Amino acid sequence: MENLSCESDKGTVRIHDRSFRVMIPAAEIDRAVERVAAAVNRDYRDKQTPLFLGVLNGSFMFMSDLIKKVDFNCELSFVKLASYSGTSTTGKVQELIGLKNNIEGRHVVVVEDIVDTGESIEHLMRSLEGHRPASVEVCTLFFKPGSYRKQIPIKYRALEIGNEFIVGYGLDYNQLGRNLKDIYVVADE
Ligand code: 5GP
Ligand code: MG
Repeated sequence: MENLSCESDKGTVRIHDRSFRVMIPAAEIDRAVERVAAAVNRDYRDKQTPLFLGVLNGSFMFMSDLIKKVDFNCELSFVKLASYSGTSTTGKVQELIGLKNNIEGRHVVVVEDIVDTGESIEHLMRSLEGHRPASVEVCTLFFKPGSYRKQIPIKYRALEIGNEFIVGYGLDYNQLGRNLKDIYVVADE
């Protein structure tokens, strides 16, 4: 059964039951990662061994590209949360892999693929604050200002988008599409 097929000449892909078209090409994502990495470098260069804490699965590709542009000594770890089913949030956040590091007194940068309603990030920030870190900030590849409903400041935002559902560069549609190097948006609505 073919669930993901590419028609690269038209810049479209079919994933499960839907068609997606390129919205943000890889080169543009790279420039946005470069900008956000420069801001992180400026703010964290003189802090003691910051910890980059990625939120799986979606952030793995952003984390990989971001950390290659970081110019200070740092550590890396991941937690795993799930709140989405299909193309809409369930509103309930599940912790699938919890925090394994001692973050007391540490400077933590949470690395997210996308902050949408803010439900997941609020849940994670509350749980991290209980571990008494020196500081925690959020660095997200995508931010949806029209959909964000929380008060947690999202300090580093590589790209802002509307309320559309996107896939690629780590982000999935029912587990497929994470391997695409560009960002795609639903084309058939
Ligand atoms: P929130 O809790 O902020 O509503 O949603 C956070 C999570 O939902 C993100 O980390 C991501 O996994 C998923 N999500 C939100 N918007 C999108 C989207 O446009 N595309 C994909 N693939 N996932 C999304
Ligand atoms: Mg996520």
